[in-house]
Amino acid sequence: QCITHCPVNALHERDDTDRVLDALNDPQKIVVAQIAPSIRTAWGEPFGLSPEKATIERLAEALHLMGFNFIMDTDFSADLTIMEEASEFLEKLQHPQDNKFPMFTSCCPGWVRFCKAHYPEFVDQLSTSKSPQGMFGAIAKSYYAKALEVDPHNIYVVSIMPCLAKKHECDIPILNDACGDPDVDVVLTTREIDRMIRASYIMPDSIGERALDMPLGLGSGAGNIFGATGGVMEAALRTAYYFATGTNPDPDAFKDVRGMEGWKESTFTIAGNTLHVAVSNGLGNTKRLLDALKEGRVHYDFVEVMACPGGCVGGGGQPIHDGEFNAPARADVLYRQDAKNVIRFSHENPSIINLYRDYLDHPLSELAEKLLHTDQHGWKMPGEK
Ligand code: SF4
Repeated sequence: QCITHCPVNALHERDDTDRVLDALNDPQKIVVAQIAPSIRTAWGEPFGLSPEKATIERLAEALHLMGFNFIMDTDFSADLTIMEEASEFLEKLQHPQDNKFPMFTSCCPGWVRFCKAHYPEFVDQLSTSKSPQGMFGAIAKSYYAKALEVDPHNIYVVSIMPCLAKKHECDIPILNDACGDPDVDVVLTTREIDRMIRASYIMPDSIGERALDMPLGLGSGAGNIFGATGGVMEAALRTAYYFATGTNPDPDAFKDVRGMEGWKESTFTIAGNTLHVAVSNGLGNTKRLLDALKEGRVHYDFVEVMACPGGCVGGGGQPIHDGEFNAPARADVLYRQDAKNVIRFSHENPSIINLYRDYLDHPLSELAEKLLHTDQHGWKMPGEK
């Protein structure tokens, strides 16, 4: 019962490392890893590495030593999610009579499952944008396959995620828009990739760093903060502001939505529109927020929901330390990295600019809709008619 009803699948940890080893040993396959934003804050903990030492580049080197062909960054596709989701939100704002508010983010599959199972009346208000892991897979098996001049069926995408719900997400049959194969072939949690590193006799402390592969290995600071509660909202508002006004805001203009509080709200003005936004993390807080919306006690235009406490930095697939809640410290690492990144806006990521110029044309284009969006009604929860 719990296995089918726990929205983040936390009680059903499936080990997929054998599937990845099979792919790495298959000479036909081009194995591409994408590393989620929150992994860089946590993967080194079981090895006793400091945040300064546990870089994404050191993890990339470990993956390279294991035989991965290309190692890239889900920050890239988090930026892509922002391009699509911010455009979707602004389009809804332009036609308020045709849309219900708030629009909800949809990048957390634990939240999407919870919504479908317990609050189906809000499913129409979920963004249709796929999550960053889904967008990455769709682009890897179309645009990137074309750039490599390889058959997209030979590209095998491995997501390294903080999350057990992402395993369920990658099994959803409708998420296969690029070439008919699943957008993502297999999801490994942080704990699984750490086990693989140990099983490969790699000592992360004594290996070097490796630059991520381009062009899907480049992410902005806005993409980086997806891993913490409030990060998706902040990143989306940075780009929505630019789309609506033609100028960038101060990159920290929306920092009110940061922090570990379970239900945050704020009001911002963008191009003369007053926007009421809310951010929740943890499903207990989310239930309180949704009940308040249903009863008309609150009104919001845009809501971010993350199922895990603190967001993905506190995800169900991250390293576990009994009695410790490490999400705040991990989130601090992400915000420090954002502040140091020379690119703070998703729409300024050169790889994203090139992707639209050379392939997708513009956000919400016909091809973008085909590859990067989904029908949230297009699959059923267990037991759903
Ligand atoms: Fe997965 Fe992050 Fe959602 Fe948790 S908050 S279920 S780790 S996507």
